[in-house]
Amino acid sequence: MKTDVVIIGGGVIGTAIARELSRFNINIILIEKEDDVAMGTSKGNSGIIHAGYNDDFNTLKGELNIKSNPKFDKLCADLKILFKRIGSLVIGFSQEDFRKLKELKENGEKNGIENLEIIRGPKLFELEPNLNPQAKYALYAPSAGIISPYKFTIALADNAVINGVKVLLETEAKDIRIEEKQVYGVVTNRGLIETRIVINAAGLHADEIAEAAGDNFKINPIKGEYQLFDKQWGNLVNHILFPIPTKLSKGILVAPTVHDNLLIGPNSYWVKDKDDPATTKAGTEEVCEGARKLVPNLPHQDLVASFAGLRADIEGRNDFIIEASKKIRGFINVADIESPGLSSVPAIAEMVSGILKEVVKEISPQLELNCQDDFVETLVEQPKFADYLDKTGEWQEIVEKDTDYGEIICRCEKVSKGEILRAIHQPLPARSLDAIKRRVRAGMGRCQGGFCSPKVLKILSEELKISPLKVSKKGPGSEILKTKTKEIIKETGVKFKDEVRV
Ligand SMILES: Cc1cc2nc3c(=O)[nH]c(=O)nc-3n(C[C@H](O)[C@H](O)[C@H](O)COP(=O)(O)OP(=O)(O)OC[C@H]3O[C@@H](n4cnc5c(N)ncnc54)[C@H](O)[C@@H]3O)c2cc1C
Repeated sequence: MKTDVVIIGGGVIGTAIARELSRFNINIILIEKEDDVAMGTSKGNSGIIHAGYNDDFNTLKGELNIKSNPKFDKLCADLKILFKRIGSLVIGFSQEDFRKLKELKENGEKNGIENLEIIRGPKLFELEPNLNPQAKYALYAPSAGIISPYKFTIALADNAVINGVKVLLETEAKDIRIEEKQVYGVVTNRGLIETRIVINAAGLHADEIAEAAGDNFKINPIKGEYQLFDKQWGNLVNHILFPIPTKLSKGILVAPTVHDNLLIGPNSYWVKDKDDPATTKAGTEEVCEGARKLVPNLPHQDLVASFAGLRADIEGRNDFIIEASKKIRGFINVADIESPGLSSVPAIAEMVSGILKEVVKEISPQLELNCQDDFVETLVEQPKFADYLDKTGEWQEIVEKDTDYGEIICRCEKVSKGEILRAIHQPLPARSLDAIKRRVRAGMGRCQGGFCSPKVLKILSEELKISPLKVSKKGPGSEILKTKTKEIIKETGVKFKDEVRV
């Protein structure tokens, strides 16, 4: 296989770069080792689009966050995903905290953020009636917002595919082939992809890819655990509530999600395993305790899920690495994209586009980078039953055109069969239960898929024309059904009612 550019990694960074580069008339392949995009850090994070007062504008983190923040309204409108600019409050309890809030405000203003305000007294509780009564001050940043990080990643990938990018899932980069200090190709588990340009957006594994190309840095994973409460609690707070940040993190926050759940977390600690998303008892306690400092009465009875995310950290370095390799021509690192990586996505993608132009000039002057006239910037809005609950007449019209929209599969999140079928056939198709869940929310609700999983499994099996035994939760190795009942009967003589057994 041969192409102009290979992007390694289907996180929010790789997919955003793929979309941005698909403006050009070049062939692009994005490879992702998992069975879907958004399976790494881009799945397990807070989903905050930060205002940009935390970092210095002289760092890439500071600059790219600030440049990106105003772009999210249009970008999310184009991609037809939710973005809510609800604003954030960093909460202070003491004089010492007040001084820190002033420092953050001054840094934000130096970075060019407008409308930052330190709030105190009754106004604080008018904004946040459920805030800890001991709170005294808050830095208010109206430009902060919330987004679904995995939906954003999937939408970026969909848009890139529409514009000609080939996404190869379950395709792992094993090595970079180099000839005379120039990239020659990417060796994958499915064979060699010949290319003269590689963009390393492999998240936590970017150091391993960089090493294969002769660049050296070491990524240490930092884990953050979260808890998610049922939808009825999203309005317990009106803004994103942060504690005073520390050197290691922005602290344990309390925030609504775009889907009206309530999110608390993350804690923050170094771990060894880059791919272990398990939560812990100690972490759960730490997250609850941290969140209660901001909002004392949390609805623990309505907890629906716990999860963790891992972010990249390079010891002694406090900035993104976004640059062409100085050792190997045609190799671009986009690594150490820790927080505020999500908030910096549009500007990171534009910066990589600029670097690519320089790299192309150097290695392939004959390859002309022209923008495609037919670049498609927007996705088409798709009907969701959950948005029509008070407009059932209008939903009826949709059902009359396609009866699959009349069959409700996920009761908690109100997802119809039509939406699930659409997810299986969208530009970057869903192939597993979790991939369906991330696209249309079937299984995200209170029962966490207890009711709808068997139905979704059946739809996937029928639509993909594969045995139910082959349908997985999240790719090979996570198949849900073990064996056909007849085989069990043969082996044990025990009879089961259903054809297959969960
Ligand atoms: C707990 C936590 C909270 C955060 N909160 C926020 C926030 O609120 N706001 C914010 O702005 N930022 C936040 N961040 C940071 C943000 O999530 C990251 O900056 C961003 O998700 C990084 O995306 P990525 O694409 O670089 O990495 P990833 O999403 O990890 O993507 C890398 C991809 O590469 C794939 N891959 C790896 N190796 C290979 C290989 N050899 N071959 C093929 N594919 C490979 C992986 O499977 C993965 O899908 C948070 C991070 C964490 C962990």
